[in-house]
Amino acid sequence: MSRYLFTPGPVPMQQDICDIGGEQTPYFRNDWFSQVVKECETNLLDCVNAPEGSRAIFLTASGTGAMEASVINLLKADQKTLVVNGGSFGQRFADLCDIHHKPYQSLHVADSDLSDIADQCTADSFCTLLINAHETSVGRLYNLQAVGQFCRENGLLNIVDGISMFVTDPLDMTEFNIDALIISSHKALGLHAGLSMVILSPRAIEALNERCSMYFDFHSYLNDGERGQTPFTPAINILMQLQHRLRQLVDGGLAKEVERAKEIAHYFREQISPLPLGFYSQYMPNAMTTLSPLDGRSAAQVVLDMEQNYGMVLTPNGGELRDKVFRVSHMGCMDIRYTDQLLDALFDYYGAER
Ligand SMILES: *Cc1c(COP(=O)(O)O)cnc(C)c1O
Repeated sequence: MSRYLFTPGPVPMQQDICDIGGEQTPYFRNDWFSQVVKECETNLLDCVNAPEGSRAIFLTASGTGAMEASVINLLKADQKTLVVNGGSFGQRFADLCDIHHKPYQSLHVADSDLSDIADQCTADSFCTLLINAHETSVGRLYNLQAVGQFCRENGLLNIVDGISMFVTDPLDMTEFNIDALIISSHKALGLHAGLSMVILSPRAIEALNERCSMYFDFHSYLNDGERGQTPFTPAINILMQLQHRLRQLVDGGLAKEVERAKEIAHYFREQISPLPLGFYSQYMPNAMTTLSPLDGRSAAQVVLDMEQNYGMVLTPNGGELRDKVFRVSHMGCMDIRYTDQLLDALFDYYGAER
């Protein structure tokens, strides 16, 4: 039975990207590879409309590594950070602050996209804000425009984890006033796992702490990056995949991908309406649909049955949402036909006619 992936990483990948991943890894301390890295940096900054003078850092790490690196390099030991905590990824930022002794306060979010963030909290005592643009654990996309505006008005450094919405939903560092943007290879970019990037605005570069880690010291990545190199062995094949992928995304390619993700998400949400499934979140991104069974079935059981009986890999939730919620990712190399496979399976599972 073939497997269909509807998970927020890994995602279905293009064949040409898989082929690059399968190539013999070339040597990298040379001009050829420096050009690969420099092209990736230029195109990445272009894709997210980074302000003039921004730089990109390439880390060999999963997304959490880049979150941790950002906390280490950008948060102050003597000034407070506001952590938007609306689920397990927000909680991860709070945990990182605890581990690295960075003072913070959590803004717990339950049923809001923070359009009204200015009414929800006062910014007086903070110097930095940490947020996951898409809180993937529940499928909530925050209003980045409102959050960016709040940071601008109050002089906060705005650090955004855009890992699970880059390529499916609009992301613009200039428009959203983002100072540090974290993204990762294995979500909607559709590359192998193991490469994460932090894009720093000039303001963020200015705010970097003194050298405070061996592996995660942003100063050394910025220095070596000037000649297209990294301090330690990079994820060479994934950077080669990234070079190829970004060539598809520049010059309007990214806007088309966002449009395609939007179309797929809307199609899926419309088509499932006859089934006993409700939307768990009001603020869903194009990246993902979060569903709750309305007929008393356990969400975890639906996920198990869909994989065992149909080869459809959906995303279960843990903890208290285990029986209430499951998620369907629309990220990666998929189209309406791919999504139809899941719809057919769901209708068959519920004994309904499409
Ligand atoms: C997937 C994800 C991450 C990174 O998780 P890793 O397992 O470390 O790659 C970080 N933030 C968000 C919002 C995510 O969805």
